[in-house]
Amino acid sequence: MRAILFDLDGTLLDHDAAAAAACVAWARENDLDGTDEQVISRWSVLERRWFAAYERGETDHLGQRVERARGFLGRPGLTRDEALGLYARYLELYRENWTAFPDAHSCLVRALNSGRPVGVLTNGRSEMQAAKLEATGLALPGLVLLATVDAGVPKPDPRAFTGALERLGVKEGVMIGDNPVTDVRAAVDAGLSAVLLDRSCAGAGRDRARRTGRAAEAGHDDLPAEAFVVGGLDELNFTRCEG
Ligand SMILES: [Mg+2]
Repeated sequence: MRAILFDLDGTLLDHDAAAAAACVAWARENDLDGTDEQVISRWSVLERRWFAAYERGETDHLGQRVERARGFLGRPGLTRDEALGLYARYLELYRENWTAFPDAHSCLVRALNSGRPVGVLTNGRSEMQAAKLEATGLALPGLVLLATVDAGVPKPDPRAFTGALERLGVKEGVMIGDNPVTDVRAAVDAGLSAVLLDRSCAGAGRDRARRTGRAAEAGHDDLPAEAFVVGGLDELNFTRCEG
């Protein structure tokens, strides 16, 4: 029996849109300079930089929030508690803007109807990720939230994947996610199959046809050859697994 694992942010939930709306509102409340575009770009650079540092084990989960708040607000002298207190307001604004991608719900339903175990494997904190699934209507019966923070080993650590399969009671699985490194290469290294969701090739006609399929044939030289690439979750179908 093979399990089906989905990443959450950027895969099922439109994290970028929610983060962009939230950081602009937060910047305005704090009288920060810059156009919306500049503010969004500053926040996304800080987010990528510090979340990657967390995934490499260079800081803990709260530590990356502290650094992002200090950097964004331009106040490096903030104590950890002060920074986390201010970051809480960003989180409130971020929550208000959570939206599922339009193809997420039906894809999860197809996955669950296949009779296979289905999980959401995410590096975000479990309470927040559970709230996201609830708020966006994706907390479907049977769907298991697997937050790597609970086990202390985030993706791309192979133990994040093997631990997830163990929790679902199976030995094999496929990982579907938008990050070529932490979702796709890491899953293949851990012995799973993997599908890269690259929404930039959705609806691109011939170009999409070229870029969708096996990574090796789709021009994704940076991915393991056996991985698949899709432009949207509506391209995914799951074969039924009978008992
Ligand atoms: Mg993601």
